[in-house]
Amino acid sequence: SPQIVWLRRDLRMADNPALYHAAQQGPVVAVYVLDDEAAGDHAYGGASRWWLHHSLESLSKSFGARNSRIILRRGDAVEELAKVANAVGAETVHANRHYEPWWRKAQGKLAKQLDLQLYDGNYLFPPGHITTGSGDPYKIYTPFSKSTLEQMPPRDELPEPETISSPDEWPASDKLEEWNLLPTKPDWAGGMRDFWEVGEAAAFERLDWWDDHVEDYDEGRNLPSVDKSSQLSPHLHWGEISPVQIWHRFKDKRSQGWKTFEKELIWRDYAQNVICQFPDYPKESYRDYDERTLWRNPNAGHLIQQDMECWQKGMTGYPIVDAGMRQLWQTGWMHNRVRMITASFLIKHLLIDWRHGERWFWDCLVDADYGSNGVNWQWVSGTGVDSNMFSRIMAPLSQSEKFDAAGYIREYVPELAKLSDDEIHDPADSKRGDYPVKIIGHKEARERALTAYRESKS
Ligand code: FAD
Repeated sequence: SPQIVWLRRDLRMADNPALYHAAQQGPVVAVYVLDDEAAGDHAYGGASRWWLHHSLESLSKSFGARNSRIILRRGDAVEELAKVANAVGAETVHANRHYEPWWRKAQGKLAKQLDLQLYDGNYLFPPGHITTGSGDPYKIYTPFSKSTLEQMPPRDELPEPETISSPDEWPASDKLEEWNLLPTKPDWAGGMRDFWEVGEAAAFERLDWWDDHVEDYDEGRNLPSVDKSSQLSPHLHWGEISPVQIWHRFKDKRSQGWKTFEKELIWRDYAQNVICQFPDYPKESYRDYDERTLWRNPNAGHLIQQDMECWQKGMTGYPIVDAGMRQLWQTGWMHNRVRMITASFLIKHLLIDWRHGERWFWDCLVDADYGSNGVNWQWVSGTGVDSNMFSRIMAPLSQSEKFDAAGYIREYVPELAKLSDDEIHDPADSKRGDYPVKIIGHKEARERALTAYRESKS
């Protein structure tokens, strides 16, 4: 009988355990359900929807080339899957496990209605596999990472299914265009179209490129002016490629570059491990600060709202911060070092609750990931379970110099392009032209943050 494959963030043909096993058992009906309700305040943001459209388009072509197709439905995922199963006479749904709380809930509900076969597909090791000696999940990254390295290798990678056979009759499907996932007026996605190729084939092209560059990663990863990180994050997030495929591709490399890169893949696993233990992690703090006194709330006053908007638009007067925020807006991605600098700036220089930053990134990033975004925001704000770094305040100007961001600033803050390498990190007010002066001085901001932090703890 037909086998349903429930696609979510696993939009690939190769190394897709759910698809692979379903195809061995019968005709395949692959289904993608756009469920805008289940995730509540974490429904996909604009950049995610843009990526999702192109990724589904690309994967539909791959299914088409195998005489198969993807059925698109909109609504409650469990209800739609049940309807499709009923229409084609299927009893079994195959799916790769996902750990966002709304997906775990849906998995639980579906398992009560149909035979749900779940597989580990999107992580090196599934959360719950890497535990302390006493069998508890890790809360802190470093021992988690060490333990993960001891458990290597991850599972074997799977090939594409040899055959994908079709059911006698196809159930009804929406048309992708009807979902309006792409922006129309205004069309803000031009920069994203220039920056990205979406889909499984593009992910592998990028991986080929990365194969020639991973050696430089250890030194290059902190330098935003040069293209020295993999930029695989949206492909990984949407499951166009799996970390297991990447791992097997590079496993024989001995360079420091690869070793450091491997640890970043483990960060990705770690974030899932955290949201499994703390499903509200992107929304809740876990430290005993009095957050009512710590944060300046943008909803509480016009000036604070203005600060928030300067940050969002890349108009803070700190070139490295503004370059990052504009890169995010234009391309849907931001360099990791600059993500840390911009996040620290919002939280500490502007004293705005990290959740507002998490939300903005959630809407703007093509790799917006419930686990990775939440874990990294909490890591910078020092409010999470792993680090307590509130009092470590990044100085954007010296970070900009240290990591040689002049070229990056020229690219994303063209008003400053004519300034010399020495001037561009912190231009004199007379040299700024149309570019704004700093919305707050570094020293003043630092003192304000430390005082608020001290007071919130007493
Ligand atoms: P590379 O440096 O090439 O790393 C390889 C892969 O490892 C990445 O593609 C990513 O999948 C993973 N990875 C690397 N660093 C991290 C990390 N710190 N945490 C988790 N996974 C990591 N990453 C996301 O994928 N989604 C997010 O929503 C996200 N939000 C972030 C928010 C903040 C405030 C910060 C500081 C970081 C965030 N990151 C997020 C982590 C990191 O910045 C990106 O994964 C990285 O910049 C992506 O670029 P890359 O593919 O070139 O990474």
